Amino acid sequence: MSKFMSSKYGNLVPYTPGEQPKNMQYIKLNTNESPFGPSFKAIEAAYEEAKKLQLYSDPDCTELVKAFCDVYGVGRDEVMFTNGSDEILNFAFMAYCDDKTSAIFPKTTYGFYPVFAELNHVPYKEIELNEDFSINIEDYFNAGGTIFIANPNAPTGIALPVEDIRRILDNNPDNIVVVDEAYVDFGTESCVPLIREYSNLMVTQTFSKSRSLAGARLGFGIAQAELINDMNTIKYSTNPYNVNRMTMAAGVGVLADEEYTKENCRKIIENREYTVSEMKRLGFVLTDSKANFIFAMHPAYGGAKLQAELKKRGILIRHFSKPELDEYNRITIGTREQMEALIKTIEEIFAEEGIK
Ligand code: PMP
Repeated sequence: MSKFMSSKYGNLVPYTPGEQPKNMQYIKLNTNESPFGPSFKAIEAAYEEAKKLQLYSDPDCTELVKAFCDVYGVGRDEVMFTNGSDEILNFAFMAYCDDKTSAIFPKTTYGFYPVFAELNHVPYKEIELNEDFSINIEDYFNAGGTIFIANPNAPTGIALPVEDIRRILDNNPDNIVVVDEAYVDFGTESCVPLIREYSNLMVTQTFSKSRSLAGARLGFGIAQAELINDMNTIKYSTNPYNVNRMTMAAGVGVLADEEYTKENCRKIIENREYTVSEMKRLGFVLTDSKANFIFAMHPAYGGAKLQAELKKRGILIRHFSKPELDEYNRITIGTREQMEALIKTIEEIFAEEGIK
């Protein structure tokens, strides 16, 4: 930290993104991207839009909002697009947390939440999960702060049913509940329909996972118009052109190709089921992940060691060094060929080390 950096950031420990290797080709199962390329409709639309890059982008994202509302069946004043869903999550911390309204989230969840809390100087409370990594919803009743719940949760992949989210909303009528649905398209029910009934609900989602646009940075929030208005107040006070022209066009292209997205999700779910059964055969213990990743540990082989050994052999997976997660690894679901290579490589490692 330079002597010029404000002391208000003295305690800030930035989020550590997963490795994006530059030196060699890996089978990349470490950052929950899609193994499938973007829709050609997205690529073509982005290419055309690149010819107009001398002009600022439309701050209202008019075309994208229109295309989105047709697909999602929400009103045009009920959605806002951002530079990845990380941005709208940060906006929600800015808008709905302060020294009187703390942020509340599970102790094991998306690692950016505590960073956003620190960045915005808001107090936060981390609630322990149950032993099996599940969330005890009663812990969130009348919580007295703004609740952030990733559903499915990360890095466990465990999902709460919509009825549980409804009970959390019912028991926090005076506070905002943000449901981060980054991984909702891989087999869980979305809470979006609940925005009709709950003025305290904001749902965030992303084009980074099921829609293969991680590198374009496109996320969004859905809520009643009053909350979207709050988000716009923050957006227009920080960066009105937060979604660039090419990304906006790519987003419209993706939405015109919903069949491609659905087919890719179907394949990911199928590959997840394959990987889970193969990992169980090799003796791994796994959570019941409904996301595009699995969360697995082996009773006879440490998490960090497995991650390091796989990396040596050209496969990247994600290990978290927090004590409660140390035995585990988070593994993104890729193509069937990538998952077969993973299983084969783990078998080789275990054979060398005499693990049955
Ligand atoms: N929420 C969760 C739970 C995530 O894992 C991620 C991906 N790192 C995000 C939000 C943010 O994704 P993006 O900014 O790419 O939309």
